[in-house]
Amino acid sequence: MRRAPDSLPALLAEAFATFREGILLLDADDGVLAFNPAFEQAWDLLGVPLVRSLTFSENLEAAAALGRASAETWLALRRGATGAFLVPMPGGAVLRVAEYPMASGGRLVSCSDVTAERQRELALVESEYRYRLLVETITEGVIVLDRDHRVVFANPRFVSWFGGSDMALLGRALEDLVRDESRAGLAPLFGGGEPRSVEAALACPGGRFVLISAAPLKGASGRRSGHFAIITDVTELRAASERLRQSEERFRGIIETTPFGILTLDADGRVRTVNPAFLAITGAEEAAFAGADPADWLPEARPALADLFAAAETGAARGESRLRRAADLGHARIVLSRMGGAGDAWLLIVEDATEARQMEETLRHTAKLALLGEMSASLAHEISQPLNIIRLAAESALLSLDDGDAATIRGKFETIGAQSDRLRETIDYMQAFSRRDGGTRKSFDTVAAVGAAVALMTPQCSSLGISVAFAPPDRPVPVVGHPRQLEQVLVNLLRNAVDAIVERRAADPVRPGRIEVTLGEEIGRDRRPWVRIEVTDTGTGVRPEDLPHLFEPFFTRKTEGLGTGLGLSISLDLVAAMGGRIEAENLASGGCRFRATLPRAEAPPEDAAPPPAVPDDAGDAPAMTILVADDEPLATAEIKRFLERGGHRVVTVGSGRAARAALEAEHVDILVTDLSMPDGDGFQLIAETAAEYPHVAIVVVTGQPLRDREALADLEGGVDAVLRKPVSLRELAATLKGLA
Ligand code: ADP
Repeated sequence: MRRAPDSLPALLAEAFATFREGILLLDADDGVLAFNPAFEQAWDLLGVPLVRSLTFSENLEAAAALGRASAETWLALRRGATGAFLVPMPGGAVLRVAEYPMASGGRLVSCSDVTAERQRELALVESEYRYRLLVETITEGVIVLDRDHRVVFANPRFVSWFGGSDMALLGRALEDLVRDESRAGLAPLFGGGEPRSVEAALACPGGRFVLISAAPLKGASGRRSGHFAIITDVTELRAASERLRQSEERFRGIIETTPFGILTLDADGRVRTVNPAFLAITGAEEAAFAGADPADWLPEARPALADLFAAAETGAARGESRLRRAADLGHARIVLSRMGGAGDAWLLIVEDATEARQMEETLRHTAKLALLGEMSASLAHEISQPLNIIRLAAESALLSLDDGDAATIRGKFETIGAQSDRLRETIDYMQAFSRRDGGTRKSFDTVAAVGAAVALMTPQCSSLGISVAFAPPDRPVPVVGHPRQLEQVLVNLLRNAVDAIVERRAADPVRPGRIEVTLGEEIGRDRRPWVRIEVTDTGTGVRPEDLPHLFEPFFTRKTEGLGTGLGLSISLDLVAAMGGRIEAENLASGGCRFRATLPRAEAPPEDAAPPPAVPDDAGDAPAMTILVADDEPLATAEIKRFLERGGHRVVTVGSGRAARAALEAEHVDILVTDLSMPDGDGFQLIAETAAEYPHVAIVVVTGQPLRDREALADLEGGVDAVLRKPVSLRELAATLKGLA
């Protein structure tokens, strides 16, 4: 049942007291008439009492004077404001205050606490602001599409791509904003389910490649109302990847067409990839390379592959190697460097230098022959000297015959024998010198090699009035290599010294021509022993600007036809092959000095031991039948006479065919044969004899001992002994005795 109101004033008083908004009634002079509890509660936030005897403004002023900033704000707003205003109160509360004039002339002040609403509102503004900021400053394009894929919103970035304002874009379908070729590709964006991305070309000025990602938007009803799309500009990215693709293609082109073999290796040095050139060089299938060791194709690398890998840690490392080619074992130059690829740790470049190397060899050989020609003057001297002595000794022996002076005759013939040995040495030298390769390396005595070169050049120097001084050390100084090659180096240096002195003499005839050769040992900075050979001359010296070029092939300052420019280049090669170096310097006194430095060998010289002495009682081997095959009748007659004196039966023949007939006709114990004969050469005779008459011992007598020994080695043991011409009868007898 409804309670009847007691009276309106009572009702109003109750409403006044319980109203949630604060109410303050003021008289026409701003005096405080009444306020309800809600107002009192709001005012209490200021922490000062509301004094009835003061006007409301005076109350506010008093609170402001007590340091209440809120009261000061309230006062200021009250004076200036026409409608409602907000007053921030201590403690974070916010009051919404409004004043209304009343008919009585007084005023009604209402105030309500709007702190909660205010905070909600602020949060909303703030989050909206954040989103707006994001959408407007983001480097991606952002658009919102309606259900028909028409643009309803586009952010400034997206608008900037098309130019103009967003008005031009609004209402246009996304399909119209991309190029024709991209249109069909947009479909996945609008399929159901997960957000999707597609690539497209925008139909904007200048064109742009973009990645569009779209997600469906749902309206309040939960129905799909359109799409939200983010557009990323990938033009630069695409251009970069296109550039990468093109450069990759270019490099692939280079790698596939280059004549150099190119291999990539993994961190363990195993082959990962190999280019067509290397497949062609090696004649191998690509499959053979996967995980293979490059050493399988590059044996005997110098430096060794392991050292090359170590050296390549700090930069490209170069080396040389044998190269297993499709048909043969060639020669390669190799460069190894570190790589920074995924999986590819090393890059190995291989140049097939076989042909170049062969040409170099031929050139070097030609140069050697040219040098041999140049040396012929000295050689003629070397040959004519002993020949002269032989001739004189022979004639003197003949004269002595009439006197029956056996002792003199014996002496003469011994001289003839000794001079023949000297001739043999000269011939050996020429043979060794003209050979293509140096044979096996061995430890040899530099003192002997330098001495031989000095001896070879001395006659020529003497004839030009040039003195050559060489004081050899009194003990052997061994190095490893080829003695003839070191001789060749010294001959080159001496020849150059002679030429420089002769040239100098043209301008300065009184200056003495002198060449000094020294040979010494020293401890290098590596604390290892080195051998130092110097050739110092009193010639022209080298022009300072020529110094860096002296050792280049074909560099010559000599008159056309006189110099090849190869001498020093060959010398450098030969010395380098022995692990040494060679350098030149000008002397203050004029002339210059060439210095070759070689690593001293640990092992004593192999040829230092004297040849085994031939026993004097060589004659008394048991009697045998000996077949002597040689096309030089005078020589065979001498041998026959000598052997018959020793009690042997001797058959002599002048050709291979005759030798075979003799072998068939009678029992032969030993065959003594020359190698070059008419009618089937010695090699054939030896092979057949070894096969058909295995009991026959075979002794070869040859004028080309070095070359023939290698050829004979191919006959695999058929030969029992090799003697070189001119053969000594005592040596022959000792050999036969050994075979008996
Ligand atoms: P070639 O002797 O055929 O010219 P080389 O290679 O032996 O070739 O020498 C190259 C050049 O070095 C010579 O032409 C000469 O100009 C210079 N040269 C070499 N040795 C001497 C030297 N002892 N004194 C002055 N110049 C020299």
